[in-house]
Amino acid sequence: MVPGLAGRGKNFLIREALVVGGGPAGASAALALRQGGFEVFLAEQRTHWTGRVCGAFLAPEAVGHLSALTALDAVRAAGAVEVTAAEVVGPSGPPSPVDVRLEGRMAMALPRQALEDSLLEYARGAGVTVEMGTRVLALLKDGPVWNATLRDRQGHQARRRFPLVVLADGRFTIGSPAEAKPRAGWFGFNAIFTGLNRKPGSLTLHLYSGGYVGLATFADGSTNVCGLAWHELGQLKPWEHAWEEALDRSPALASGMRGGTRGEEWHGVGPLPFSEVIRPSEGPLLVGDAAAVGDPFMGEGIGRALGAGPLLMRALSESGGTDPLKVLRAYERIWTARYTARLRAGAGIHKSLQNRIAFLAASLTILKSPARIAALLPVFHGSPA
Ligand SMILES: Cc1cc2nc3c(=O)[nH]c(=O)nc-3n(C[C@H](O)[C@H](O)[C@H](O)COP(=O)(O)OP(=O)(O)OC[C@H]3O[C@@H](n4cnc5c(N)ncnc54)[C@H](O)[C@@H]3O)c2cc1C
Repeated sequence: MVPGLAGRGKNFLIREALVVGGGPAGASAALALRQGGFEVFLAEQRTHWTGRVCGAFLAPEAVGHLSALTALDAVRAAGAVEVTAAEVVGPSGPPSPVDVRLEGRMAMALPRQALEDSLLEYARGAGVTVEMGTRVLALLKDGPVWNATLRDRQGHQARRRFPLVVLADGRFTIGSPAEAKPRAGWFGFNAIFTGLNRKPGSLTLHLYSGGYVGLATFADGSTNVCGLAWHELGQLKPWEHAWEEALDRSPALASGMRGGTRGEEWHGVGPLPFSEVIRPSEGPLLVGDAAAVGDPFMGEGIGRALGAGPLLMRALSESGGTDPLKVLRAYERIWTARYTARLRAGAGIHKSLQNRIAFLAASLTILKSPARIAALLPVFHGSPA
């Protein structure tokens, strides 16, 4: 339960909320609002799982938020395994072991579908109305409320009014103006492998000039392989090509993948619209990737998404919860204090990965020193409390 918020919704004027999107940010926002006494309607456009490119790493901050939302047992029951051995490796070993615990809390690894299914199921059980296959098409301000146009899985459209709207609809949110999608930038790709000589709960981050690949091994021994690569305009290639490039650039990765078999097609996504500050909004609260997208190597995106509920309950509490615009401004203030500095730090590091000389310098100093890597972790990961 979000500390101190049980039943608090009864004291707020706003008591009904629409949450757009059923990823970790949407599930967290819906759950926290429900636990705070709100009526919550969550619309998720997917009817079934279509796969999401992800490193499957739950940082201690994410685990802390799951615990605060009382959802940690549900996620454990879905198969989450504690990360007991983590290492960072340059293009040519040796690996540097890293302690990814923070303030005594463990990190975890879990297939992304299991995380999202278990969270939505838990939210349903807590009394959130979850509508799968329902897409929010438009939001129009009408005095103190929002008119939402929704389209359900049968194609029927309906209008509903909500005083509070939370946009948890991911990196291409309807809350920001549509920009022409660039054809160059950082692309993510991932697939599950079997047959690797790795223990459940082991995590490896391979860094090489021009990108990186993370390996997270699940409870059943299968390994999620997830990479990020930079592509220039006109260089878009199939994911298999990006993977072969990664193996060429990192002999340590090639050696670690020996004996492995890919069990599915590669999934890919990009280019990713990174940002370091919260996107502006004149009404709906933007949470998770809708608010800002951080570099995946930081492994904090799910944690930031799961922080949506606790953060917005704090904003409701601090603003009195009567004027939606005051709630929004309080939320933006809390968000900025908590996330901007670490998103900037992450942006600085991913830029250095693009620059061969900067990367070589970092390899020689940081990558070979477990103490230096360990010192970077709290920069990217907030307190799990
Ligand atoms: C390559 C890669 C690897 C990553 N690895 C990790 C990792 O290992 N650990 C980590 O912590 N983070 C990782 N991240 C980041 C993490 O995946 C994101 O930060 C996280 O998914 C954000 O969650 P979210 O709920 O905000 O958005 P999303 O997970 O994108 O969910 C948004 C949801 O909204 C729905 N939706 C969108 N529009 C509408 C609409 N109009 N109506 C209704 N529903 C809608 C979508 O269907 C979707 O289900 C990675 C990211 C990438 C790109």
